[in-house]
Amino acid sequence: MVAPNIIAIDGPVATGKSVVGQLLAQELDYQFLDTGTMYRAIAWLSFKKGLEPEDHEALEALARTAKIDFSPDSRTVFINDKTVPLMNERSQIDKIVSIISMNPGVRKAMVENQRTIASTGSIVIVGRDIGTVVLPNAPLKLYFEAPLKERASRRYQEMIKQGHNISLFQVIDEISKRDKLDSERKHSPMRPATDAHVINTQGLTVNKVVSLIMNRIRLMA
Ligand code: C5P
Repeated sequence: MVAPNIIAIDGPVATGKSVVGQLLAQELDYQFLDTGTMYRAIAWLSFKKGLEPEDHEALEALARTAKIDFSPDSRTVFINDKTVPLMNERSQIDKIVSIISMNPGVRKAMVENQRTIASTGSIVIVGRDIGTVVLPNAPLKLYFEAPLKERASRRYQEMIKQGHNISLFQVIDEISKRDKLDSERKHSPMRPATDAHVINTQGLTVNKVVSLIMNRIRLMA
């Protein structure tokens, strides 16, 4: 079976993109890139530097000059050689990341980075604008969706397991705000590419979603 060399997965918060993408990449022996972690890294560094999310010029300069790297298993992200505490400072990052991601200069720098990484070999790449902007010629584009209630419940369980002190209500509020900012922004809004296959992941296990995608890949071969 010859699988498409680029598999782009987009969709809103907690639809299962990252966990499915990671497993799919393992199965195909592809590299995996979660582009959300790059925006999270910039958000974290800007917060550490005390920049206001509205300070467009400073953020753009930060994004242009930042060195972003990943651990070999893609689970850890480094910015300017510092580990980004994606889990420990998650709540803080969640609050600002979608505002920072609206900045066209930040997006331009991240998209260039993402295209460079994708040019190095076969890849499963997940985000919000991969099929529409980053790699519009990707041979397989997927767009995940699921009802807000299910997504919030998944994210809530995950955060409680990680030891965060948060209520389901707070999670619903945070996800809704992020979805709204991500889908209504002027530059690269989150939306399915016209040729994307939409998968509703409601009630599906991670393995089930991976097997649906593998079946689709077999049909393409
Ligand atoms: O995927 P994740 O929830 O980690 O992404 C964090 C945020 O980064 C998103 O809510 C969105 O604002 C931004 N993002 C983006 N474009 C991408 C990936 C993520 O704007 N390709």
